[in-house]
Amino acid sequence: MEQIRKPKGTLDILPEESGIWQYIEGKIKAEAAKFGFSEIRVPTFEYTDLFCRGVGDTTDVVNKEMYSFIDKDGSNLSLRPEGTAGVARAVIENGLYAGALPLKLFYLANFFRREKPQAGRTREFWQFGAELYGSDSPMADAEVIILADRIFKSFGLKNVVLRVNSIGDKNCRPAFREALTAYFEKQKDKLCPTCAERLYKNPLRILDCKNPECKELAAGAPRTLDHLCGSCRDGFSAVCARLDACGVKYEIDPMIVRGLDYYNGTVFEFTVDSIGAQSTVCGGGRYDTLLGSIGGPELPAVGFGMGVTRLIQALKDEDLLPKPDTGARIYVASMGDPARECAFTLAQELRDRGVSADCDVCGRSLKAQMKYADKTGAKTVLVIGDNELASGEAELKDMRGGENKRVSISAEEIAKALK
Ligand code: ATP
Ligand code: MG
Repeated sequence: MEQIRKPKGTLDILPEESGIWQYIEGKIKAEAAKFGFSEIRVPTFEYTDLFCRGVGDTTDVVNKEMYSFIDKDGSNLSLRPEGTAGVARAVIENGLYAGALPLKLFYLANFFRREKPQAGRTREFWQFGAELYGSDSPMADAEVIILADRIFKSFGLKNVVLRVNSIGDKNCRPAFREALTAYFEKQKDKLCPTCAERLYKNPLRILDCKNPECKELAAGAPRTLDHLCGSCRDGFSAVCARLDACGVKYEIDPMIVRGLDYYNGTVFEFTVDSIGAQSTVCGGGRYDTLLGSIGGPELPAVGFGMGVTRLIQALKDEDLLPKPDTGARIYVASMGDPARECAFTLAQELRDRGVSADCDVCGRSLKAQMKYADKTGAKTVLVIGDNELASGEAELKDMRGGENKRVSISAEEIAKALK
């Protein structure tokens, strides 16, 4: 029969890798908890309209990359391509905006984008995201940036660079947009086809196009920071001041504009150059109009999304991942059927006492059991045969070359000996 393979651009996270994922997720969640962020879990698919209105239908994410389908009742659904819109919907639908503010939420979930698979870019990928609702203060911007910074620091990651910018608000962005359109209009022929299309719809996106010719043009384009109104300028300085005060290093980069429509004011990215072309490990910013645009109350918000797969790559490159510790604390090996049954019960009694224990469930020979214990990384092995059953004692072997001990075959004694 023909073998079925996984869909293009998806990942199998195998047992040898899943320990790394648990380690990473654990550390991220611990950091989020220190900052007072609580987890929210929202659906894997939503009505397509949520992403069209929330993320914006001029963005690549919605326009080109979304997995959409018509359900049997005719409704148009999409697999979530990002986290912010779904969380915003849940905040409105469940009235969370009426509770204690600011509301600090995080998610750790899988997302789906139909992109060209390559290193650091898959069609199903994982993000950690943080969202802070209900504060328009620059301190809130700084707080989420510091959370991302501290997550990277908690892993000991060194080659990570934070770039910040402000793209202005509804007062100053229209004039900046016009200045940009006017600038690029003069050199329209040199733009790539995608950017030529963006020129009137979303000229800011031209600034982060990866096409070399567009990049060259963008280098001479008007800069957002020169077009900010007084309050945006003050806000941006205040964000930078808070980062300085908390020891967060950053660069101001006028080319950071972010790909999604909902941003205003502060935007930022963390990049790790060692992971190659797909070097952005985290991107975020402020999105004060998002809630209003999907039918909720006006509530200022700021947050980010962090790519977990790219983070893992960065940690691998800096050799910062611990060796996963998988094997059982004890493997109870046996010789002969009565001993096998005894081993089975003993393993269960050990587990009931909180000890990770394993034993043979295949009817294998002692030699094969020892091989299995070794391969799976068991830390100790207890061998039970007829003699041991008769004497009620057995040898507890340390598989890593430590001292062996004689113990009585009792879960209580063995659990004590293993402490
Ligand atoms: P990029 O410019 O790399 O396409 P983006 O601006 O589309 O990124 P965001 O929507 O801001 O990305 O998502 C936040 C983070 O999620 C990214 O910085 C990246 O680390 C990760 N990410 C985005 N798309 C993918 C993907 N297809 N595969 C793996 N990780 C991804
Ligand atoms: Mg993208």
